[in-house]
Amino acid sequence: MTASQPGDNTIEKTVIIGSGPAAWTAAVYAARANLNPLVFEGGITSGSEMIPGGQLMFTTEVENYPGFPQGIDGPELMQAFRQQAERFETRIKTRNIIECDFSKRPFVLKDDQAEETRAHTVIVATGASANWLGLESEQHFRKAGLGVTACATCDGAFPRFRNKPVAVIGGGDSAVEEASFMTKFAKPVYIVHRREELRASKIMQQRALSNEHIQVLWNSTVEEVLGDDEKGVTGIRLKDTKSGESRVVEVAGVFLAIGHTPNTAFLGGQLDTDDKGYLKLTDNYRTFTKIPGVFAAGDVVDSVYRQAITAAGMGCKAAIDAERWLAEQGIE
Ligand code: NAP
Repeated sequence: MTASQPGDNTIEKTVIIGSGPAAWTAAVYAARANLNPLVFEGGITSGSEMIPGGQLMFTTEVENYPGFPQGIDGPELMQAFRQQAERFETRIKTRNIIECDFSKRPFVLKDDQAEETRAHTVIVATGASANWLGLESEQHFRKAGLGVTACATCDGAFPRFRNKPVAVIGGGDSAVEEASFMTKFAKPVYIVHRREELRASKIMQQRALSNEHIQVLWNSTVEEVLGDDEKGVTGIRLKDTKSGESRVVEVAGVFLAIGHTPNTAFLGGQLDTDDKGYLKLTDNYRTFTKIPGVFAAGDVVDSVYRQAITAAGMGCKAAIDAERWLAEQGIE
């Protein structure tokens, strides 16, 4: 069975949008509840490549997902999630949903191949995407693939960074994790943070700060990424937030780790969001959005915990909520 084609009468019971822990857990539960779910596993784009699987695809070792006492690689964990959903015959399309119409029933979803899918229930589990500083120079070198990226795990091993200094921008867990990872390839690794205290958890801070190859440049913001189209990135111009002074630090790469923005653009404002753009649910225990039949789970709604395990838990809740909602409507 495939998604509905123009002119056919297929109405999906449950469409799940996303491919992180929330989406795959929702798929496992929905499939085992005989909802025959269809997952749109559209993903994050890195260069011209689409990478489904959400943020864990860009993580090295996951040490805090229960059930893996020795830890597990992020991509390996996501592969296992996906395989478990497939085991119960979840149908999967590697496409992004670009538009939704929740004003009529069944709901209509348009994908990036211009195909439409109709559905009684939709679970939005699209996660969040990396933030950028917004500097012209940053975007220039990023788009040209010349040394600016938001994914050390994807790009860190490139020869251009080998044994060269690089900078990781940010002060949270992602920044210290990416900095630690980059010491495998590049030296020294600067963490450029705009304050004088890291936001990262104590254990991860300690690990990074005790690494002789990591140096934190406190109270610093990036004014410009320097370089040219032949050599790529050669440095960054930093501004000291206290003295206002600028200085240039030589680096061959810049790795952004300044947080994420929930992926909600395709919803066209049909669901309510909070001031940071995260989807709002109608109560704290369930996954209902303001539109009955549309549920949301994972990082797209969660600005507080943002963990794989909490996303997976919400995905489970969303599938159970969808199943019960369909039963209440008498939809089989
Ligand atoms: P985050 O905790 O939101 O940290 C973002 C960092 O970027 C902050 O230090 C922030 O500075 C800085 N920042 C934000 N905008 C900036 C800008 N425009 N210019 C300069 N700096 C800017 O994001 P995250 O590190 O990606 O972590 C997100 C969540 O994932 C957290 O809950 C984290 O615990 C979790 N996580 C866990 C692991 C793990 O356990 N292995 C790994 C990665 C992430 P301020 O501090 O000044 O606000």
